[in-house]
Amino acid sequence: MVHRVTMIPGDGIGPEIMEAARRVWEATGVQFDWDIQQAGADQMETAGTPLPETVLQSIRTNKVAVKGPITTPIGTGFRSVNVALRKELDLFACLRPCRLYSGARSRYEAIDLVIVRENTEDLYAGVEFEPGSSEAKSIAAMSGGRIPPSAAISVKPISPEATERIARFAFDYARANRRKRVTAIAKANIMKFTDGLFFRTCSEVAKAYPDIAYDEVLVDAACMRLVQHPDTFDVMVMPNLYGDILSDLCAGLIGGLGMAPGANIGKDCALFEPTHGSAPRYKGLNKANPTALVLSGMLMLRHLGEMDAADRLEHAVAHVVAQGRFVTYDMKADRTDPTAVGTREMADAIIEALRA
Ligand code: NAD
Repeated sequence: MVHRVTMIPGDGIGPEIMEAARRVWEATGVQFDWDIQQAGADQMETAGTPLPETVLQSIRTNKVAVKGPITTPIGTGFRSVNVALRKELDLFACLRPCRLYSGARSRYEAIDLVIVRENTEDLYAGVEFEPGSSEAKSIAAMSGGRIPPSAAISVKPISPEATERIARFAFDYARANRRKRVTAIAKANIMKFTDGLFFRTCSEVAKAYPDIAYDEVLVDAACMRLVQHPDTFDVMVMPNLYGDILSDLCAGLIGGLGMAPGANIGKDCALFEPTHGSAPRYKGLNKANPTALVLSGMLMLRHLGEMDAADRLEHAVAHVVAQGRFVTYDMKADRTDPTAVGTREMADAIIEALRA
């Protein structure tokens, strides 16, 4: 069967890691018909928007997409294309498995945990009011002196519907993947209504899954425990912002951002992309680690039902990482190690391992 998949190379290191990963995915023997679409700052000039409707249409039609990172301007300019894609396509669940492969640079011996991040609301809803705007002033006026009238204001919506949906996703994932525990992460002692609702809703959902243990940990305590005892976590479910931050923390546990894959999953479509961003300073240097994107493709293969290809791909990656010879600079003990290979060469080594 040929799988038609939307491919968005992205910008920064995106196009070069995408080209490397595409060769690896094709070397599994699975047949793809790539529908290549462009999004990001360059599209602003030609299409007048960083996220042309044709890109969304392509994903809606193909139902599956793979994406490289896209740069988001800080402070000014358009809002994140990445966030917009997740919202427009209702890709409500961000799944980030963090597994330590032997040979990856880590302070730990074994890490195998999964982050499930709610993708559509929280402070990422994009409801922000500029300082001095009439909205900011009226919210400040309602606050009874707790917000100065000069403040910029971001709104943090957490709804029972979106929380129930992400909690069910986390428990269903745990059950389907023989995981034992789901831990909800939030800061309900301070944000009593929003994060309080998150914990309450997760614990309600947990009642329908008596075979899976459930607990709640405050996000600050979770950060410390992740560093000291990461083995005490299994599946972790959390609102959008904590999920963004803890994803990078957990990437750090398994060898860095170059090793951390991800998937954004909705009812109708799924989009696979690494946790990392566009790393602009490495653009065009053939230096970036393609593994996070390659492994995002492994998640895509599983989603497409290509289990055997996914397993072979994971073994091939694990083999190359364990050997430690044909790996990029970020996987060497010394980042200036001259024996580090480039993006293309690491992909070649994974392809070689796949064929062996
Ligand atoms: P980043 O993840 O792009 O890079 C941070 C650092 O991590 C890099 O300087 C590099 O040292 C390392 N790194 C990241 N990916 C690597 C790889 N594949 N191989 C080796 N090393 C790697 O984070 P940033 O610098 O904060 O963000 C750059 C841009 O990317 C920003 O505009 C940000 O908004 C965007 N971003 C996009 C996405 C996405 O497309 N989903 C995700 C995160 C950030």
